[in-house]
Amino acid sequence: MIAFQRLDQHTYIMPGNNVIGAMTGASGRAVIVDTGLDERYGRRILKAAEGAGFTVSAVLYTHSHVDHIGGGGYLMEHARPSFYAFPAEAAAIENSGLEGFYLYAARPIAELSTKFVHAEAVLPVHHLEAGPMAVEDVSFEVVRLPGHCLEHGGFLSEDGYLFSGDALISRKVWQRTGMPYLVDVKESLGTLEVIEEMDVKACVLAHGGVAKDFRALARDNRRAIEELACRVHEALDRPMTKEDAFRKVMGELDARFDLVGYYLLMSTFGAYLRYLRETGRAELHLENHQVLWNRL
Ligand SMILES: [Zn+2]
Repeated sequence: MIAFQRLDQHTYIMPGNNVIGAMTGASGRAVIVDTGLDERYGRRILKAAEGAGFTVSAVLYTHSHVDHIGGGGYLMEHARPSFYAFPAEAAAIENSGLEGFYLYAARPIAELSTKFVHAEAVLPVHHLEAGPMAVEDVSFEVVRLPGHCLEHGGFLSEDGYLFSGDALISRKVWQRTGMPYLVDVKESLGTLEVIEEMDVKACVLAHGGVAKDFRALARDNRRAIEELACRVHEALDRPMTKEDAFRKVMGELDARFDLVGYYLLMSTFGAYLRYLRETGRAELHLENHQVLWNRL
């Protein structure tokens, strides 16, 4: 059955591959956190909201990835809530073809224009600011959790649950992907430190649900990121292209992926290379029409 499960007085989740959050006020108004992959999620959200007696007033987006925004078009049409995200994410939600564009770095190939990459645009998306916020009588706190994408956000419910989107990754997702998506290693590490220090009851992971052991998980995430950075560093044992280094590391991890997975991983790999350079552990130069990376 599709329904919101109550975590606490004002905090709910709808479990699934993409976990949807809801925070409520005294009057039955609800603020939804993320809208899942596609129209089916939009329909489920409204059905579950109706079943629980909620009126959907607003949608808060943790970030602009398609599995978090795909149900928004259905909600826009049928419930007309206000939409919110941090500015860079709002721009990508309003122009939802951008994800394929930045993965491919040109107008994307057809495989990067499917519903798994390209959602229906939602307009307008209002800009969030970090700090306390209220939508009608629903109060919560907005937190910056960058790293997984440029301006990833988190939402802390009145009851002390943090909707952490993809800022914190479950052990299962780590095992499945080998190198979970991120755009900035340093920021991801900083965000994980922030989460580890937070005085909350639990984190709600977008892929994994309620994590009461979020501190240990954040520590594990940090360790895994540092280990991957070391692995990439070790791979650069002679000057080589990003593609050659990538092939070497993916082979070691025995990673399996399709074309979309390749572009996601390759983008993440670029973030690790940048991190190594930023921390003085790698350098790059142009030679014979190739960018070559080498460790220091
Ligand atoms: Zn994501």
